Amino acid sequence: MIRKIVTIPNKILRMKSKKIGYVDDSIKKLAADMIETTLDWDHNSEFGAALAAIQLGEPMKLTIVRKNFENTDQKEFTTLVNPKIVKASRETAKDIEGCLSVPGIYGRVKRAVKIKVKANDLDGHEIRFSAEGFAARVIQHEIDHMSGIIFLDHVKRSEDLFEIDENGKLNPLKGPINPVRDI
Ligand SMILES: [Zn+2]
Repeated sequence: MIRKIVTIPNKILRMKSKKIGYVDDSIKKLAADMIETTLDWDHNSEFGAALAAIQLGEPMKLTIVRKNFENTDQKEFTTLVNPKIVKASRETAKDIEGCLSVPGIYGRVKRAVKIKVKANDLDGHEIRFSAEGFAARVIQHEIDHMSGIIFLDHVKRSEDLFEIDENGKLNPLKGPINPVRDI
């Protein structure tokens, strides 16, 4: 079922998500809804790389992450239950991020280049894996959502903020320095 995505300045996005005990049918349904909603959101030059449950208003430690960020015709996702970063590289990199809950705005955010992640899958099995580059960035962004953190919280300089135009081009953001300052 396609559901409504919670967007700023809704304070739901500031809630802390709860650890999932047992993956029951309602969690599986929520994960399926998250994938359907993300694919429905894809448009023009923008595509949804991932979604956290809080973005559908459900404060649960659950995220779905696209398996292939280059070819958006591929519509497969990895579902992570209770994901946790167990190790992060000291090396960081700054790159552009967007968020389905922050429509039209992009920002340059510093993230660890490599991470090691522990999570469960929907069958309750523990999974451990390493991620780097954009995948590592996306997972750090999603885990932030579980603590009520929005990517713009990491953006301190106005020159790191952009808005997307109808051609998919990023232009310097006009208006408030940081639109999440007050939420
Ligand atoms: Zn986001």
